[in-house]
Amino acid sequence: TLKVPNDLEIARDVELKNITAIAEKLGLNPDDIEMYGKYKAKLPLDIIDEEKVSQGNLILVSAISPTPAGEGKTTVSIGLSEALNRIGKKTTVVIREPSLGPVFGIKGGATGGGFSQVLPMEDINLHFTGDFSAIEKANNLLAALIDNNLQSRVNNLGIDPRTVSLKRVMDMNDRALRDITIGLGGTNNGVPRESGFDITAASEIMAISCLAEDMDDLKKRLGNIFVGFTFDKKPVYARHLKAEGAMATLLKDAIKPNLVQTIEGNPAIVHLGPFANIAQGTNSVLATKMGMTLSDYTVTEAGFGFDLGAEKFLNIKCQSAGLSPKAVVLTATIRALKYHGGAALNSLTIPNTEALRKGLPNLEKHLENALQFHITPVIAINLFASDSFEEIEIIKEFAEAKGVRVAVADVWANGGYGAIELAEKVVEIVEEGSSSFKPLYSWDMPVVSKIDTIAKKIYGAVNVEFSAKAKKDLKTIASLGLEKLPVCIAKTQKSLSDDPGLLGRPRDFTITVREIEIAAGAGFLIPITGEMMRMPGLPAHPASENINIDNEGIITGLI
Ligand code: ADP
Ligand code: MG
Repeated sequence: TLKVPNDLEIARDVELKNITAIAEKLGLNPDDIEMYGKYKAKLPLDIIDEEKVSQGNLILVSAISPTPAGEGKTTVSIGLSEALNRIGKKTTVVIREPSLGPVFGIKGGATGGGFSQVLPMEDINLHFTGDFSAIEKANNLLAALIDNNLQSRVNNLGIDPRTVSLKRVMDMNDRALRDITIGLGGTNNGVPRESGFDITAASEIMAISCLAEDMDDLKKRLGNIFVGFTFDKKPVYARHLKAEGAMATLLKDAIKPNLVQTIEGNPAIVHLGPFANIAQGTNSVLATKMGMTLSDYTVTEAGFGFDLGAEKFLNIKCQSAGLSPKAVVLTATIRALKYHGGAALNSLTIPNTEALRKGLPNLEKHLENALQFHITPVIAINLFASDSFEEIEIIKEFAEAKGVRVAVADVWANGGYGAIELAEKVVEIVEEGSSSFKPLYSWDMPVVSKIDTIAKKIYGAVNVEFSAKAKKDLKTIASLGLEKLPVCIAKTQKSLSDDPGLLGRPRDFTITVREIEIAAGAGFLIPITGEMMRMPGLPAHPASENINIDNEGIITGLI
């Protein structure tokens, strides 16, 4: 019988090039990069050239609403990048770094899969170059400074501990730390208060580091982190604790993008990773600009479906950094579309044209959404072994009827070779110049209108309701003068609506904003429309049970 190799076995069979050879492909000398061993390097920020950034072709990979079956945006991004290199376009794939929590939990790593992976996958999925640790330390320094200030009688700012929302972070799924009481043990041990831990990727410092343009901008954003109120209701920011200098110092290497390689020996930049629900869900601005400086095509990914990741990518990141994607690749799988069409999770490998047809409206809405930003989409059918010819034809016919390009991406099984047609269609879109990116809303609009615009135009809601708490938050935002910030709506990724059970293309629904959080440092407001998980837990049988290392240092069980 034929044994299909797993991701780690495929990765291990690849003979890695020295990272200097990858740098050379980008026109960089060994002296231009900062080596982290043989296969990883940091790219100094002075390489970034705004002139080249403005000429680069940025391709955004997004997806339909995610399902438990998995869509494969990272896998498609990597495979597409290999294919573009194969057809002669100098291309770099730029993606997020994995968090350790999912590596040991259910989801696994985030370095692609099959024959479309970034390498060395063991390193990237584990400590990599230490960026997450630096983010954690910077966050926890601020947390320590806050508690120290509560304790101190000399330099006391009068912070009301009940208004402090910043938590400590660590990069682990550990639900027992979600809610804790700190400062117990008497007068020498701080002021008792309720607090907790978030996972590092949910830290505002992560979001900040991904939007910062340079060290000065990073410091400014760190100083703007909203800490809470004093007892006489005055706002306190991180800068009042003189925190930003030391925090930025801790981040000095973390803000430099990491260069690694793909299975086919092409450059890949893997840098930082904020959540896509409570934050912007995409790699750093500096990494994107680095890719665009060093190559003609830059392929990047935004987390979850188009309604979450891409909307934030376009309205927050692109507006903030002055980027204009030239094409959107909308990843869809036949399995996921059948699930949206009502098929049961355990039946998705069985051909079912009826469920597939019923699921297509989900894809349709995300395509319409791409066009609302004036960006031309192409559908990538991420091919699974169980997909039938007949099912593929149904998606192609649907695309033809809509006048949208479509291509099968057989990248998991065949790497870049499996995405030549997709790459050609992406190049066609870029060369015909049919995209002219326009944000959906202006940051100057009132906060309520910004939320309303996204809810109605992108999600398809008919109405938006604000709870009493959300209305109170709107007043606080106004009093702090933060109304001009863009909104980063926290919503379930499972549905276009705020109800995870509504699959496909729900209509006539209301979005309920329960509260609005302030991320003044990152530079956005976070309207919360459901329960948001900032510290995941582990399953009964975590992936860690299968992870092992032998006496020769060979790792097994990483997925
Ligand atoms: P996303 O970026 O959308 O979260 P990933 O690209 O990380 O998705 O893929 C999720 C999982 O699905 C990975 O383990 C990957 O190996 C697997 N996968 C993706 N595409 C395929 C495919 N065509 N066939 C089989 N497995 C796939
Ligand atoms: Mg991904």
